Amino acid sequence: MSSSTDHPVIIAGAGPVGLSLALALQRRGIPAVVLDVRPEIARDPRATTVQPRTLESLAEWGVLDALASRATRVDTLQYWDWRNHSLLAELSYGLIASDTPYPFRLHVPQWELCEVLASRLDEGTVRWRHRVVDLEADDEQVLVDVTHNGVRETLRGQALVGADGVNSTVRRLLDLDLELGERDTFLTCEVDRSIAACFPEGIELGPCAHLFDGESWAIWMQMPDCIRLLFHVPDGTSAQEAMTDRAVWRRTRALIGEAGGETYNFQLFRSRATYHVQQRVVTAFRRGRVFLAGDAAHSAFPVGGMAMNAGIHDAEALAAALDDGSEAALDAWSTIRHAILRDEVMSESSAAHRALSASGLIQRWLRNRQIGELASDPVVAREHLKRLSMLAH
Ligand SMILES: Cc1cc2nc3c(=O)[nH]c(=O)nc-3n(C[C@H](O)[C@H](O)[C@H](O)COP(=O)(O)OP(=O)(O)OC[C@H]3O[C@@H](n4cnc5c(N)ncnc54)[C@H](O)[C@@H]3O)c2cc1C
Repeated sequence: MSSSTDHPVIIAGAGPVGLSLALALQRRGIPAVVLDVRPEIARDPRATTVQPRTLESLAEWGVLDALASRATRVDTLQYWDWRNHSLLAELSYGLIASDTPYPFRLHVPQWELCEVLASRLDEGTVRWRHRVVDLEADDEQVLVDVTHNGVRETLRGQALVGADGVNSTVRRLLDLDLELGERDTFLTCEVDRSIAACFPEGIELGPCAHLFDGESWAIWMQMPDCIRLLFHVPDGTSAQEAMTDRAVWRRTRALIGEAGGETYNFQLFRSRATYHVQQRVVTAFRRGRVFLAGDAAHSAFPVGGMAMNAGIHDAEALAAALDDGSEAALDAWSTIRHAILRDEVMSESSAAHRALSASGLIQRWLRNRQIGELASDPVVAREHLKRLSMLAH
């Protein structure tokens, strides 16, 4: 007689979260199938940062070396007051060397992480051009309706996990409530590394730098073959306006200064995208045999580099709970992930966002003083790095 656990865990979405879950399940000997509406891994510029806590999972899954060979290793974080080009703090990840075997972060395009994860899955695990359209679930199994090349079929699984991104079909079908937080819009650009030569003499940015520039800010991230810049899009500016040559030029000139701005070859900007984020988390990550993970369950500002990482942590913990199989383990997974997302990831991302966008002289002075403390007190700096690295969760 077949039992429900003979059927695979069906995962909707082959983004970083769905692929991580499939790999974590495969390593536990649990069959999984990943369905994605796209024809292949999306290559648009999205998340960049893999945090130390996530590196621990990737090492466990045997993919860390492959990823590291495609990535830029980041050993320090810098905070600059960019109005007078003064370095407020440079924090070394060496401060968390006793907290993790991987005291550094990696900068790597999200699609490269997806490629590395997918390359380790058994053949046939990922099915491209498969759209999840409906589901039916009881206490033992789920029936998932899928369309592929215009044909509709029903797949049977022991569980369904919606890792199908911010506009999740699975979340919509479950009609789960969302708790909402702050919202904001960001502009992300990829630019040639030669932009570094435009800075005033003597200014050298590390691989990750937060630049406070009066009322505005930028985050500078060295990637293996380019620089990624993240800016805030001012209220009242539409996504179209924010992406015009003129708007990107204005932001860049503020970053590299008048002199550099005149000489920089604007053609060296490779890509740009705006990204609107409504911070939010579902009230429950589980209904019976159906689960939500990653952007389907939560969104956080990109400034802390935590959104994708939190989804990978959802996946790792869910694989362990499904392996355990008890109601208690599955409920605990849902409760713990909800608490971590709401009380730690969203609030940490909000704090990083507030520090960047501090407006007014007093707030900026307080922010700079707090960052100065990080520079002078290794105990405070270590706690700060642990939170950013998601090691305190
Ligand atoms: C422009 C941009 C910049 C970003 N920058 C950052 C950043 O700097 N730092 C950061 O941490 N995060 C950033 N993010 C967010 C980060 O990309 C997400 O947190 C991450 O992609 C979440 O992974 P996921 O697997 O949950 O979802 P996704 O990567 O969105 O994957 C979901 C997958 O589900 C598939 N799918 C959707 N519906 C269905 C369906 N019905 N059936 C089957 N498949 C379906 C989609 O095709 C997709 O492949 C950025 C996002 C964007 C858009």
